[in-house]
Amino acid sequence: SEEIWVIVKDIVDQKKAEKDILKAMHRAKQSERLKSAFLANISHEIRTPMNSIIGFAELLGNDDLPDERRKWYSRIIAENAEMLLAIVNNVLDISRLETGQLKVVRHETDLNKIISDIYDLFTLQAQEKGIELNIKNLLPKELAIVHTDESKLKQILINLTGNAIKFTHEGQINISCSVENGEVYFSIADTGIGIAPEDQKAIFERFRQVDDSTTRKYGGTGLGLTISLGLTELLGGSLKLESEHGKGSVFHVRIPVQTPVPGNETTLKKDS
Ligand code: ADP
Repeated sequence: SEEIWVIVKDIVDQKKAEKDILKAMHRAKQSERLKSAFLANISHEIRTPMNSIIGFAELLGNDDLPDERRKWYSRIIAENAEMLLAIVNNVLDISRLETGQLKVVRHETDLNKIISDIYDLFTLQAQEKGIELNIKNLLPKELAIVHTDESKLKQILINLTGNAIKFTHEGQINISCSVENGEVYFSIADTGIGIAPEDQKAIFERFRQVDDSTTRKYGGTGLGLTISLGLTELLGGSLKLESEHGKGSVFHVRIPVQTPVPGNETTLKKDS
C-alpha cells in the first residue's frame, strides 16, 4: 500500500510539472505577443511625427516662402522632433530603471512650482478637448518646500496627467496635493473612460495597454505607467489606482520626502 502512495505522489508531481510547463509556455507566448504589439505601436508612434518632419522640411526648402510660414513650419518640425525624443527617452528610461541605472538626486523643491508647471503644460491641451483641468489646491508656503528628486516627481505627474487628458472626453481632471507625516501625496482624478477591474493590475506592466489592437483609438507605447510606477518605487513611494469602467480613474501617488523643521528653514528633518 505504501508503494501505491509513492506512485500516486509521482503522478501528482508529474501533473503539477506539466501544469507549470503549460503556464510558462502561456507566459512566454503572451510576452511574445506583447513585444510584437509594442513594435507595431512604436513604429506607428515614430512614423507619424517622422512623416510630418520630412513633409515640412521639404516645404521649408521652397525659396519664396513668406517669413511667417517659415517660422510656422520650423515650429512644427521642432514639436514633432520633441515627440520623437520623448519616445526615445521613455524607452531609455525603462531600460535604465530595469537595470538599476537611474539614480535619485534630491534637492530643495517647491511643490507649488511643480503643480503650476503641470498646469501650464496641459491647460491648453485640456481646453482643446473641452475638458477642465483643475488644480484643487496649492500648498501653504511652509509645506511647499521639500527635499526630493524634482525631475522624477515631475515626470510621474506629467505621465499621469497626460494619460488623464488622453483618456477623458468630457468633464474634468482634478489634481490635488498635500504634505503630511513626511509624505507628499498627489491625486490625479479624471472623468474619463475608466479601467475595468481585470485590467487594473496589468496596465502597470510594460507595453501593456487596455486596447493594443492595430485599430486602437489611442496612441502610446504602454510605457508611461511602468515608468511612473518604477520612478515612484525608486523614490520609496507607492502608486495606487482606483477606477470605475466608464466613469473615471484616480491615481494616488505617495512619496516620502524631507520637510523643513519649523522655525529653521534651512535644516531638513531626517528622511524616513
Ligand atoms: P500608453 O498611455 O502609452 O498606452 P501607459 O503605460 O501610460 O501607456 O498606460 C497603459 C494603459 O493604461 C493605456 O493604454 C490605457 O489603456 C490605460 N490607462 C492609463 N491611464 C488611464 C486613464 N487615466 N484612464 C483610462 N485608462 C488609462
